[in-house]
Amino acid sequence: MITTRAAAAILAASTVAFVSAQRPQFNDSVRAFIKVDAPVVALTNARVIDGTGAPARANQTIVIRGTDIAEIGDSARVKPPEGATVIDLSGKSVMPGMVMVHEHLYYPTGPQVYGQLGQSFIRLYLAGGVTTMRTGGNVNGFMDFNLKRLIEAGQVAGPAIDATAPYLNGPNQFLQMRALNDAEDARRQVNYWADMGATSFKAYMNITRVALGAAIEEAHKRGLKITGHLCSVTYAEAADLGIDNLEHGFLAATDFVDDKQPDTCPGQGRGQQSLAALDPSGPAFNTLVKKLVDKKVALTSTLTVFETFTPGRPLPPGLDVLTPQLKEQFEKTHARAAQNEKSIYVRLFPAALALERAFVKAGGLLIAGTDPTGAGGVIPGYSNQRQLELLVEAGFSPVEAIAIGTLNGAKYLGRDGRIGSIAVGKQADLVVVTGDPSTAIADVRNVDTVFKQGVGFDPIKLVDSVRGRVGLW
Ligand SMILES: [Zn+2]
Repeated sequence: MITTRAAAAILAASTVAFVSAQRPQFNDSVRAFIKVDAPVVALTNARVIDGTGAPARANQTIVIRGTDIAEIGDSARVKPPEGATVIDLSGKSVMPGMVMVHEHLYYPTGPQVYGQLGQSFIRLYLAGGVTTMRTGGNVNGFMDFNLKRLIEAGQVAGPAIDATAPYLNGPNQFLQMRALNDAEDARRQVNYWADMGATSFKAYMNITRVALGAAIEEAHKRGLKITGHLCSVTYAEAADLGIDNLEHGFLAATDFVDDKQPDTCPGQGRGQQSLAALDPSGPAFNTLVKKLVDKKVALTSTLTVFETFTPGRPLPPGLDVLTPQLKEQFEKTHARAAQNEKSIYVRLFPAALALERAFVKAGGLLIAGTDPTGAGGVIPGYSNQRQLELLVEAGFSPVEAIAIGTLNGAKYLGRDGRIGSIAVGKQADLVVVTGDPSTAIADVRNVDTVFKQGVGFDPIKLVDSVRGRVGLW
């Protein structure tokens, strides 16, 4: 319920002057998705899950001034300021906007073709509660950077984007990916895309150690981070080269393939067979984990994409937004996967959960992403919510899972001073959900409003604007 104390609105003019950072000037197309836009907003009687992993607090009031959180406390004590737009959140919870780090603005639309779906995906991400995202590699060139700028300028609705450059890879089969020749080539490519606006980098499955080392060096010179979905280079080798982050939990590690040849990908399948058989409390795995923790290499959990390959799992959420052709295409693939009882994923998926848990227990920084690629069952926004559910299935408590999907991502991006948790002075990036995800994580699906920089977006309008058309744009 939204109420405005209209009578006091004039008095509020003095309050408005407190606005600490500038919101963008939204154009009309963005305005159509906004449901709360006021200089001062008080969210009352809310359950607050602050994103740090701390227990939820009931009956809280959050005061938003401009872009930032001005005050938080018990609703009995903190009164809405005069002139504030007051929103009673009885029965609802507030958590930080998600900060997810393995997102993409493309999707597998056909054989070896990744359709560039930036326009619809950014709306879906925001609708799902993602207020900041890193794209985990691009196969387009300039779209991620341009969308990032348009969002910042208020010209399109979407999360803040840490935009990655096109992949850094060796010789490969992808139509939309270049192959690096050598270390000099890697240096050139990093600097070119950094000049063009890339704020992060991703190495891929066939890069050599020399090219990866050169790319890491150049990225770091420019103060930028680099992650990898690796295969030719092991996790241990990449950690020694200074990589910042590794993708897909441990499922892209080839460290445990017994006849692994340097700089050669033995096939993701070989790596995965070795992982399915790995003892999560054995010395080989513990040695790798210790290296990653010591060298502060973050690990990205992308359970959502692997779940779609695993027999016996439910259909993923959000398929209705796809074009009918893409929906049917995925449903057929899913039905085939469901019947494949010999699939490696029968053992690998539970192993993935256990290995990620072990990494966190050993002190590692686990961050979260969804990877909307695979067979097409990972739908932005919906999948980010599903990722939190899967972390709970892995054994994390709901508030721990939420921390992994919010504050941990912000820490990795070096933005935790401003985003990732609910605290006074931080940006008002907040997700209002009906219910209590601190006890029932699936309640993260019930998004009521997504606040970004203090402006409340309507998830239903965002989703309705793309429903049935995701796949076209
Ligand atoms: Zn990816």
